[in-house]
Amino acid sequence: MDHGRLDPDLGPSVGSHRHGDSTHAVAQAVRREAMVAQAAESPRAAQRRVLILGGVAGGASCAARLRRLDESIEIVVFDRGPYASFANCGLPYYVGDVIQDERALLVASPEIFRIRFDVEIRTETEVTAIDRAARTLTVRDVRTGEVRRERYDALVLSPGAAPIRPPLPGIDLPGVFAVRSIPDSRRIRDWITARCAKTAVVVGGGFIGLEMVENLVHRGLGVAVLEKLPQVMPPLDPEMAAPVMHHLTERGVRLHMSDGLARIEQTPDGSVVVVAESGARLPTDLVILAIGVRPETELARAAGLAIGPHGGIATDAQMRTSDPAIWAVGDAAEVHDVLTGQETVLPLAGPANRQGRVAAESIVGRSTQFRGVQATSVVGILGMTVASTGASEKGLARAGIDGFAKVYLHPGHHASYYPGARPIHLKLLFSVPDGRILGAQAVGTEGVEKRIDVIAMAIQLGGTVHDLAAAELCYAPQYGAAKDPVNLAGMIAQNVLAGDMPLADWTALSLTDALLVDVREPDEFAGGKVPGTINVPLSQLRERWTELPRDREVWVTCGVGQRAYYAARFLAQQGFRVRNLSGGFSTYRAMRAAGIVS
Ligand SMILES: Cc1cc2nc3c(=O)[nH]c(=O)nc-3n(C[C@H](O)[C@H](O)[C@H](O)COP(=O)(O)OP(=O)(O)OC[C@H]3O[C@@H](n4cnc5c(N)ncnc54)[C@H](O)[C@@H]3O)c2cc1C
Repeated sequence: MDHGRLDPDLGPSVGSHRHGDSTHAVAQAVRREAMVAQAAESPRAAQRRVLILGGVAGGASCAARLRRLDESIEIVVFDRGPYASFANCGLPYYVGDVIQDERALLVASPEIFRIRFDVEIRTETEVTAIDRAARTLTVRDVRTGEVRRERYDALVLSPGAAPIRPPLPGIDLPGVFAVRSIPDSRRIRDWITARCAKTAVVVGGGFIGLEMVENLVHRGLGVAVLEKLPQVMPPLDPEMAAPVMHHLTERGVRLHMSDGLARIEQTPDGSVVVVAESGARLPTDLVILAIGVRPETELARAAGLAIGPHGGIATDAQMRTSDPAIWAVGDAAEVHDVLTGQETVLPLAGPANRQGRVAAESIVGRSTQFRGVQATSVVGILGMTVASTGASEKGLARAGIDGFAKVYLHPGHHASYYPGARPIHLKLLFSVPDGRILGAQAVGTEGVEKRIDVIAMAIQLGGTVHDLAAAELCYAPQYGAAKDPVNLAGMIAQNVLAGDMPLADWTALSLTDALLVDVREPDEFAGGKVPGTINVPLSQLRERWTELPRDREVWVTCGVGQRAYYAARFLAQQGFRVRNLSGGFSTYRAMRAAGIVS
């Protein structure tokens, strides 16, 4: 008898059927008896056979879900690596020694899969070809070189995405690493220890690059980042990335922006020099390549499966490929972006897991659909949290979408009177005039991802800024405010939609003949101001408003936009044509740092 099928720790669907639904239990027992009889004649020969290529996020979740849905299927997972179901997201922290025991990265072993789920995981087994006509895979044992053919009734492709390694001189030198697997991270750890490495250059300032930065700094290395774009964290708009860059610099990370990798040279002492396209030379003990990933589609292409416009395997809402017997999930699959309506590839673990589940449901004949992605993500960088969901402003521009507005706000992560409130820099994008939420980005130290998660859920439910304004969220002084930053974002956007707070665009500063009025107190104004502004503090506005000219528009600003809003409402009711520069001086500083305003 199979231990896995008796294990009380099986997933909820099997457990509840066993205890709750006696009809189902009988049916299952009959099916099992039939299976046992069949197996006695010809073990597994007549069973439906599902093969899964790739045993990590998408593949493993598909396998586990499949078993919970159907005990009669034979499930075999192939992974060419030495481990399946490991935590790739934990790899940077293993390099950084935050996770010290490598075994902690192993989410579930082949043994657990066998005992709990009766799923066979074959590691170090590479799939080398798909024969769609014969419905077979060619697989090669990586250790022995033995080649076999495996038949399938259904095939799931979850091969992931490979780190991009541009064919540049020196890219394969010792000391140049990418991070994808446990052995990769082990090699980096060993290199740091053996060489007593003191410095590292991380090429690429995206998620994985910056997680590596954090962990290398944690290991005590001096770290430089070489990034081709003028900003880190490409999913963010540049002004939202500016505080991240400031934070990195403050923490001693050297940023080489707007400069690509040209080559890597070896020095006689065994260390390397990263040479940038500008000619800058960065001597270092090790190099981490984190310039993005590319969907692993070679096998799918060779098998003639349709490939999408972004180079991923084309899939439908049930994760089925152009071949009805083959599904594709995870980083290799192309999926639908719910905000832009366009196809995209999104290498994140959450979508990969959910897609694996959807594919399993589809394989057993359920109609479950994957609803698409909106790129909800978070990353921690040396004490700073950066999170976003939905479309960015530049993403909307790329997709040719206009008719939207944006607001900036910088509320504390909890009530300002409770000690330790830290600002969250938040940008909200929404469509005009219906207020549908299009995206949000937030940067801060505390409570950042909580706000983005709430907004992410609102987007998934088709929510508007009115829903954010009305949201009932938890509050106690140490966690939030009676008007949570999410409520505030919605209320500010509502004010814009209602015409209560017309906005001025920061990028129009140099073009406008409007009078720029800063309503902060004089000492704040003296500490830094938007060029061309005059200072009329809010505390004096009710006495001094008659000084302002009526024949020009008035653009008001302050520290974060709140006092400017009060001033704007007052002046509007005195008959002025008034606009608020959203986000105040905080946003101006970020815009200037990003080179958007001068
Ligand atoms: C360092 C790092 C940190 C990350 N951090 C985060 C994070 O914090 N949050 C987040 O959401 N996402 C993160 N990700 C991304 C996340 O890990 C991926 O999106 C997710 O693992 C994708 O799942 P997948 O099943 O598509 O591919 P993978 O998990 O990459 O699994 C694919 C597997 O297929 C195997 N394979 C490929 N081709 C073959 C073949 N021909 N034969 C046999 N086996 C094959 C590979 O060896 C691999 O084990 C991180 C990724 C990395 C590398």
